[in-house]
Amino acid sequence: MKILVLNAGSSSHKAALFDFDSGQEALWRSQLDWTHSEGAVELTAQTADDRQHQATLETQDKTEGIRWMLSTLVESPVQVLESLSEIQAVGHRVVHGGQKYQESIQITPAVKDTIQHLFSLAPAHNPANLHGIEAMETVLGALVPQVAVFDTAFHAQMPASASTFPGPYEWVKEGIRRYGFHGISHRYVAQRAAQLLSKDLTELKMITCHLGNGCSLAAVRDGVSVDTTMGFTPLDGLMMGSRSGSVDPGILLHLIRNDQCTANELDTLLNKGSGLKGISGLSNDMRQVAEAAEQGSDRAQLALDMFIHTLRRNIGAMLSNLGGLDALVFTAGIGENSVDIWQSACAGWEFLGLALNPDKLHRSKADQDIAATDSKVRVLVIHTQEEWAIAQDCVKILGS
Ligand code: ADP
Repeated sequence: MKILVLNAGSSSHKAALFDFDSGQEALWRSQLDWTHSEGAVELTAQTADDRQHQATLETQDKTEGIRWMLSTLVESPVQVLESLSEIQAVGHRVVHGGQKYQESIQITPAVKDTIQHLFSLAPAHNPANLHGIEAMETVLGALVPQVAVFDTAFHAQMPASASTFPGPYEWVKEGIRRYGFHGISHRYVAQRAAQLLSKDLTELKMITCHLGNGCSLAAVRDGVSVDTTMGFTPLDGLMMGSRSGSVDPGILLHLIRNDQCTANELDTLLNKGSGLKGISGLSNDMRQVAEAAEQGSDRAQLALDMFIHTLRRNIGAMLSNLGGLDALVFTAGIGENSVDIWQSACAGWEFLGLALNPDKLHRSKADQDIAATDSKVRVLVIHTQEEWAIAQDCVKILGS
C-alpha cells in the first residue's frame, strides 16, 4: 500500500512516500521552503537510493507548490512512481485536535469543519494543515482517502488534575486546558521503547523526552500520556530553541502594563526571541550554543545550564506523578544526538538506581539502550519516526 504523508506548515511543506508492504524507509522525501526567496518556493527531494533534486519555482500559491512537489514523484531524477494514481492514501499531521479527537480519523467534510473550528486554538498550524488536506483533494482527487493524525491526541486522556489550569473554572468550559503537543512522536517512541524492551506497553512507566527545536516531556503510564510539559499552546514547559517555555505569567502582565509590548510583540518575543537564542544571543541551535559555551561565551554557558536545569526539574515533576520509572527515553535532534545532554539529564538520578553505560555514550544510527546492564531504569535513545507513525495510522484506519 503506497501512502503519502504530508506535514503542512505555514512556511514549509514536508512530504514522504512509503510503500507500507516493503518497510519503514521512505521511498521519497521532499520539502518545500517558502521562506527562502521572495515570491518563490524552493524544493528539495531525495529518494531512498540517494537520487537528489533541487529546484525553485516562481509562485506564492501553496496549492501550486504542492502540485509541483508531487510531480517530482513521477519525473526524473527522483521518480519513484509511474503515476500519482498509485497513491492509495494520504496521512496528514494535524497539530490541534481539541478535546474531540483522541485518535486519528479518516477525513470527511465534518472533520474538516472541526479542524477549522479549532483555528483559534492553533492559529499558526491548523489553517496550514487544513489547506494541505484541501490541496491534496485538488491534486489527487477527492476519492483518495485521507487521514488526520493529531499531535494532541496522545495526551487527550490525561486526568483532569493534569489537564486543568488553576485559573477560574470557566476556563474548562472555554476549552482553556492543557492539550500537550508532539503527541505523534511521544506515542511512537513509547511504543518503540516497549518493543526494544520486549515488554507490553501497558506494563511500563516511562518519561519520553522530545528534545528538538521544540522540546517537551510526556509521562507515559499504561500506554497513555498522563502528564506533559506543553500546555494550551506549544509555548509551555521546557526551555526550547527560541521559545521560552514556562515563565512567570506576572512578567507578561508587567510588560503589557508598562506599555513595553503589545500582544503580538510578546508572541514574537516568547516564540522567536527566547530560549537558547534569547539567552545566548547567538542561535537557537544547540550545536552552536554548546560550541560557543566551550569557547568561553558566558551567555552561551548560561543558556546551556538553564536548558539542563529546566529539563531535570521537569523530569522530576513527571516522575513524581508516575510512581516509578522503567525507562527514560530521549528523541528528536538534541535527544538523539547530544551525549552531553544524556549525561547531564541523567546525573542526579543515581538514587533511583539509574546508571549509564560509559561504552554506549556515543551517537548511533540505530535505536539503543545506553543504561548500564545493572541499571534499574533503562535509558533509551530512539530516532523518532513521525511520518512512519502517520502512515501506520492510515493503514490501521483504512485497512490494508
Ligand atoms: P525540529 O524540532 O525543528 O524538527 P530537530 O528535531 O531536527 O528540530 O532538532 C533540532 C535541534 O537538534 C537543534 O537544536 C540542533 O542543534 C540539535 N542537534 C542536532 N544534531 C545535534 C548534535 N549532534 N548535538 C547536539 N544537538 C544536535
